[in-house]
Amino acid sequence: MGRDDCIFCRIIAGQIPCTKVYEDDAVLAFLDIGPISPGHTLVVVKPHVRHLYDGDSDVLEGLGSALGRVAGAVVEATGADGCNVLCNNGRAAGQLVDHVHFHVIPRRQDDGLFPHWPKFEYEPGQAEAIAQSIREKL
Ligand code: AMP
Ligand code: ZN
Repeated sequence: MGRDDCIFCRIIAGQIPCTKVYEDDAVLAFLDIGPISPGHTLVVVKPHVRHLYDGDSDVLEGLGSALGRVAGAVVEATGADGCNVLCNNGRAAGQLVDHVHFHVIPRRQDDGLFPHWPKFEYEPGQAEAIAQSIREKL
């Protein structure tokens, strides 16, 4: 069910306009209203799910095939050299709209939009300990 207090639910319900590029049973894709590059597109799952890891598998199965198709079309249509596909989860990760969506951001070589993230090196044993913690949650 859509939520009245969620902007993406309201767009999906047709109550707020968007510049739509694709729709199927699982997702609605439209241009981001505040793009970082021309063609910046949002691929939004239809159910109101806050985080990628809150939904049931059906939500993500439908999303997967649409996401690749939309990303390919965005790259081709904009003549980009590549794209970032990003899903922000939680405020710490920059999520502003609490409804699962993926950003498809067309990129050009040397566009300088944002750099690769900084790297650090694990302490001895640290990587295996983290990997084991993750495995135990799966
Ligand atoms: P995030 O930080 O991942 O939650 O990103 C939310 C994105 O939604 C931002 O890039 C906004 O520009 C975009 N956005 C917010 N409202 C609208 C809207 N009405 N139509 C299109 N994009 C929107
Ligand atoms: Zn919503």
